[in-house]
Amino acid sequence: MRIYCPICGERDSGEFTYGGDATVHRPAMDETDAEAWCQYVYNRENRRGPMLEYWHHTQGCRAWLVLERDTVTHKILSQPRLVGPWADEPKGNPPIDSGSDTGSAERERVSEPVGAE
Ligand SMILES: [Zn+2]
Repeated sequence: MRIYCPICGERDSGEFTYGGDATVHRPAMDETDAEAWCQYVYNRENRRGPMLEYWHHTQGCRAWLVLERDTVTHKILSQPRLVGPWADEPKGNPPIDSGSDTGSAERERVSEPVGAE
Protein backbone atom coordinates (compact mmCIF):
# COMPACT_ATOMS: atom_id res chain seq x y z
CA MET A 1 0.00 0.00 0.00
CA ARG A 2 1.23 3.49 -0.85
CA ILE A 3 0.29 6.55 1.20
CA TYR A 4 0.58 10.09 -0.03
CA CYS A 5 2.08 12.44 2.56
CA PRO A 6 1.28 16.10 1.72
CA ILE A 7 4.81 17.06 2.84
CA CYS A 8 6.97 14.18 1.51
CA GLY A 9 4.93 12.85 -1.39
CA GLU A 10 3.94 9.25 -2.08
CA ARG A 11 5.66 6.74 0.21
CA ASP A 12 5.44 3.07 1.11
CA SER A 13 3.04 2.38 3.98
CA GLY A 14 5.94 0.82 5.93
CA GLU A 15 7.11 4.35 6.68
CA PHE A 16 3.85 5.06 8.49
CA THR A 17 2.34 3.91 11.77
CA TYR A 18 -1.38 3.34 12.03
CA GLY A 19 -2.84 5.75 14.57
CA GLY A 20 -6.35 4.43 14.96
CA ASP A 21 -9.90 5.51 14.29
CA ALA A 22 -10.03 9.24 13.55
CA THR A 23 -13.69 9.56 14.53
CA VAL A 24 -13.17 8.76 18.23
CA HIS A 25 -13.30 11.82 20.44
CA ARG A 26 -11.66 12.15 23.84
CA PRO A 27 -14.00 13.25 26.64
CA ALA A 28 -13.34 16.62 28.26
CA MET A 29 -10.54 16.39 30.82
CA ASP A 30 -13.00 17.21 33.61
CA GLU A 31 -15.34 14.39 32.56
CA THR A 32 -15.99 12.16 35.58
CA ASP A 33 -18.18 9.55 33.92
CA ALA A 34 -16.13 6.34 33.92
CA GLU A 35 -18.27 4.88 31.14
CA ALA A 36 -17.35 7.79 28.82
CA TRP A 37 -13.65 7.17 29.46
CA CYS A 38 -14.04 3.41 29.09
CA GLN A 39 -15.77 3.95 25.76
CA TYR A 40 -12.97 6.28 24.61
CA VAL A 41 -10.08 4.06 25.71
CA TYR A 42 -11.29 0.53 24.98
CA ASN A 43 -14.27 0.33 22.67
CA ARG A 44 -13.75 0.52 18.93
CA GLU A 45 -15.85 -0.47 15.97
CA ASN A 46 -14.32 -3.07 13.71
CA ARG A 47 -15.57 -1.47 10.54
CA ARG A 48 -15.66 -3.20 7.21
CA GLY A 49 -15.38 -0.66 4.42
CA PRO A 50 -14.57 3.06 4.40
CA MET A 51 -13.05 4.34 7.64
CA LEU A 52 -11.36 7.60 8.68
CA GLU A 53 -7.96 6.81 10.17
CA TYR A 54 -4.94 8.53 11.68
CA TRP A 55 -1.55 7.69 10.20
CA HIS A 56 1.78 8.95 11.53
CA HIS A 57 4.65 9.40 9.07
CA THR A 58 7.03 7.87 11.59
CA GLN A 59 9.98 7.33 9.21
CA GLY A 60 9.49 10.58 7.33
CA CYS A 61 8.42 14.05 8.37
CA ARG A 62 6.69 12.71 11.54
CA ALA A 63 3.45 14.47 10.64
CA TRP A 64 0.03 13.11 11.50
CA LEU A 65 -2.39 12.52 8.66
CA VAL A 66 -6.07 11.73 8.43
CA LEU A 67 -7.25 9.73 5.47
CA GLU A 68 -10.18 7.59 4.50
CA ARG A 69 -9.27 3.99 3.69
CA ASP A 70 -11.39 1.04 2.71
CA THR A 71 -10.52 -1.63 5.29
CA VAL A 72 -11.44 -4.41 2.84
CA THR A 73 -9.51 -3.31 -0.25
CA HIS A 74 -6.97 -1.00 1.50
CA LYS A 75 -7.71 1.57 -1.20
CA ILE A 76 -7.26 5.13 0.02
CA LEU A 77 -10.48 6.97 -0.73
CA SER A 78 -9.65 10.54 0.24
CA GLN A 79 -6.73 12.87 -0.11
CA PRO A 80 -4.71 12.55 3.12
CA ARG A 81 -4.64 15.79 5.04
CA LEU A 82 -2.33 17.00 7.76
CA VAL A 83 -3.60 17.45 11.31
CA GLY A 84 -2.04 19.02 14.39
CA PRO A 85 0.79 21.56 14.11
CA TRP A 86 1.65 20.25 10.60
CA ALA A 87 -1.66 21.39 9.15
CA ASP A 88 -0.10 24.69 8.03
CA GLU A 89 2.85 23.07 6.22
CA PRO A 90 3.14 23.64 2.46
CA LYS A 91 1.43 20.89 0.53
CA GLY A 92 2.49 19.13 -2.63
CA ASN A 93 0.30 18.08 -5.51
CA PRO A 94 -2.62 15.93 -4.38
CA PRO A 95 -2.68 12.38 -5.76
CA ILE A 96 -6.45 12.13 -5.81
CA ASP A 97 -8.87 14.42 -7.62
CA SER A 98 -9.98 16.83 -4.91
CA GLY A 99 -13.35 17.23 -6.61
CA SER A 100 -14.37 13.63 -5.94
CA ASP A 101 -16.86 12.70 -3.26
CA THR A 102 -14.96 11.32 -0.29
CA GLY A 103 -17.87 9.49 1.30
CA SER A 104 -19.89 9.98 4.41
CA ALA A 105 -17.09 9.22 6.85
CA GLU A 106 -15.20 12.33 5.68
CA ARG A 107 -18.06 14.50 6.80
CA GLU A 108 -17.75 13.33 10.39
CA ARG A 109 -15.91 15.60 12.76
CA VAL A 110 -12.23 14.73 13.17
CA SER A 111 -10.37 15.71 16.30
CA GLU A 112 -6.64 16.14 16.73
CA PRO A 113 -4.64 13.02 17.63
CA VAL A 114 -3.56 12.75 21.25
CA GLY A 115 0.03 13.84 21.70
CA ALA A 116 0.26 15.55 18.30
CA GLU A 117 1.13 18.89 19.77
ZN1 LIG B 1 5.81 12.97 5.46
